[in-house]
Amino acid sequence: MTGPVQEGECAVLIVGAGPTGLLLACLLARRGVAVRVLERRTAPTVSSRAIGLHPPALRALAELGLEREAVALGERIRVGRARCRDRDLGSMDFRRARRHRGFVLSLPQSRTEDLLIVRLTALAPVALSWGWEVRDLQDSPSAVTVTAQRSSGGAGTLHLRAGLVVGADGSRSRVRTLLGITAAGRDYPDAYLMGDLADPSGQESEREAVVHLESGGVVESFPLPGGRRRWVVHTGTSITDPTPAALVALVRERTGTVLDPATTTMLSAFTVRRRTARRLLSGRCVLLGDAAHEISPIGGQGITLAWLDALDLAPLLARHLAEDRSGVLQDDPAWRRAERRIRCRARLAGVVAATNTALGRPAGARVSALRALAVRGMLRTPLRRGLAWVYSMGWIRAG
Ligand SMILES: Cc1cc2nc3c(=O)[nH]c(=O)nc-3n(C[C@H](O)[C@H](O)[C@H](O)COP(=O)(O)OP(=O)(O)OC[C@H]3O[C@@H](n4cnc5c(N)ncnc54)[C@H](O)[C@@H]3O)c2cc1C
Repeated sequence: MTGPVQEGECAVLIVGAGPTGLLLACLLARRGVAVRVLERRTAPTVSSRAIGLHPPALRALAELGLEREAVALGERIRVGRARCRDRDLGSMDFRRARRHRGFVLSLPQSRTEDLLIVRLTALAPVALSWGWEVRDLQDSPSAVTVTAQRSSGGAGTLHLRAGLVVGADGSRSRVRTLLGITAAGRDYPDAYLMGDLADPSGQESEREAVVHLESGGVVESFPLPGGRRRWVVHTGTSITDPTPAALVALVRERTGTVLDPATTTMLSAFTVRRRTARRLLSGRCVLLGDAAHEISPIGGQGITLAWLDALDLAPLLARHLAEDRSGVLQDDPAWRRAERRIRCRARLAGVVAATNTALGRPAGARVSALRALAVRGMLRTPLRRGLAWVYSMGWIRAG
């Protein structure tokens, strides 16, 4: 190791300043907990990645007094519509499924994270440190010592002694590996191309989410703030060199919609997998968000799920510190109950996400026609209210 060595102490150390780590840090700072967050990126993200915030996620923002600001910045999606071969199969209305917050908010992840960064800076001005990559941790009965290295722009080592450590470092979690916790799951045979472009339908009318169930594979589109739209297209096989022209051509071929490739502000090709950590608790450490459970992003439930974990764990973390407990977390029945709740929610969300993913696969003409018939049937009966409830994550329960 080279460069200067720094040392420090805190009550709770969170590894990762993604949506999960940032929300939890705000919740803890608000309770007066001395929290630190180490993030290996050197600056906030500019990527729009996750855009869907379901009603339970808005409740989490409300806890921090951020819901109103988020809703003002985002786009409310009140209706989801299904189409196939130019035919309208029907729609579901989130306003009918929920009396309060009858919409899914579309807000780019970069904006969501910015809101949380500003709030965290106001609550705990020196809590968040950019450009530190956690490389090692040593758990002992009284504290955890974490070692981080400067991730770019110079050498340096940081040793932090923390009462408790939270691994909120995403689906390929280093904390999970350092704790020796394996993750079980599967890789799905699905590949997608995703892009944000100008919305050719304009902004005047009610902007709906539209899912085109085509035999070549699904095309999904979601309103974004500022008269733009997110397009997600099933490509069958993985694309290594994505271009706006390829995305625009697929959308046109399957739906007839003409997009302008020059308006593309984000383009990404991705494949899909599911992973669940075999344990979430180890000594004085806990895993949260994608580090604990990664589900297919089709359906956009990841942030909502992670934030409910954070809402569950913030009071437990604060209580553990206030009571100055020295035992390991898994010995405490309250922690074990929280772990079970988190795993159960993730299992249910995983089933919904896997169903969404399967529904959008390429299919022969006959299967595709039957699929459209079944979806049309459901969307024209009272069942559609149940679907709106499922798709707005009405089933979810926090502790
Ligand atoms: C294409 C796509 C679309 C999606 N759309 C949606 C959607 O619409 N709605 C939704 O709810 N979810 C969506 N998701 C899922 C969502 O993005 C994730 O569930 C969410 O980002 C998880 O947040 P997180 O904070 O747990 O992990 P991450 O967002 O991955 O954040 C982890 C952070 O930890 C940092 N880190 C990693 N290792 C270290 C280390 N060793 N030291 C320090 N820092 C470290 C990383 O740099 C990162 O900032 C989507 C995902 C994808 C891939």
